[in-house]
Amino acid sequence: MKKIISMLLIVCLLGVLASGCGSNMQTVDSIKDSGKLIIHTNAGFAPYEYLSNGEVVGVDMDIAKAIADKLGVELVIEDVKFDTIITSVQGGKAALGVAGITVTDERKESVDFSVTYATSVQYIIVPADADVDTIEDLAGLKIGVQLGTTGNFIIDDEINGIDEDDGSHTKGVLEGTGAECITYNNANLAAAAMDSGKLGAVVIDKLPAEIIGQKYGEKFKVMELVYEDGSKTTEEYAIAIAKGNESLLEVVNEVLAELKNNGKIDEWVLYHSENAVMDEE
Ligand code: GLN
Repeated sequence: MKKIISMLLIVCLLGVLASGCGSNMQTVDSIKDSGKLIIHTNAGFAPYEYLSNGEVVGVDMDIAKAIADKLGVELVIEDVKFDTIITSVQGGKAALGVAGITVTDERKESVDFSVTYATSVQYIIVPADADVDTIEDLAGLKIGVQLGTTGNFIIDDEINGIDEDDGSHTKGVLEGTGAECITYNNANLAAAAMDSGKLGAVVIDKLPAEIIGQKYGEKFKVMELVYEDGSKTTEEYAIAIAKGNESLLEVVNEVLAELKNNGKIDEWVLYHSENAVMDEE
């Protein structure tokens, strides 16, 4: 009897491993069964995702819709805090994270990434009369960033320096200058804080920075984040997906390849950069 029970247990276990059930992985089959593709985003990052008349729209949402259409299911967009997206994708709360997410080695430890679909750099936004040309010029300033973003990581590293496992410390260019990194849930909130005099600078990805620059007109100036030695940051965006979710990854990559080749992504970037009607926060 005991033997039969343990045999049954082994068979069950193998079944669970093979089908991926027992985990919350949202495979193509389970998505088709439920009729829904749940994606997580953070709608404060125009032109990629922003609120327009209470609805989440943007380049990433157009991409997500194309993926849902390919799967023949309804797209369900959940607007969450940016710094929760990777964990939610990892745990299966969302099938995909579509949020202008930069591929980083650290994030790759938690999730897989699609092919990349955009390139970006960090930008600095400062009041128009500020004397700032390089990141080194942010010495002593309060710098607003979006929590959990690459801009946040860069400014933290430059303020605190980087400590390696072997005990060595690389000094950051803002270390010891009195500069402070202040986190917000999105860059629009940081820009509003700068407008009311609470910050000396905001650091965020290029296109969102340019749109913020347009909104504040003559009050702010925007520039690419460069170091005194001329070096820059470059990043690539991809869609985050649970590790090992091969069937869905294949569909996502296929749709992205199509949209890159037929020029749709470029078209959407232009459309949402120029025609975006953004709700006030
Ligand atoms: N690309 C940046 C990052 O991945 C910011 C993304 C965002 O704010 N939506 O960290």
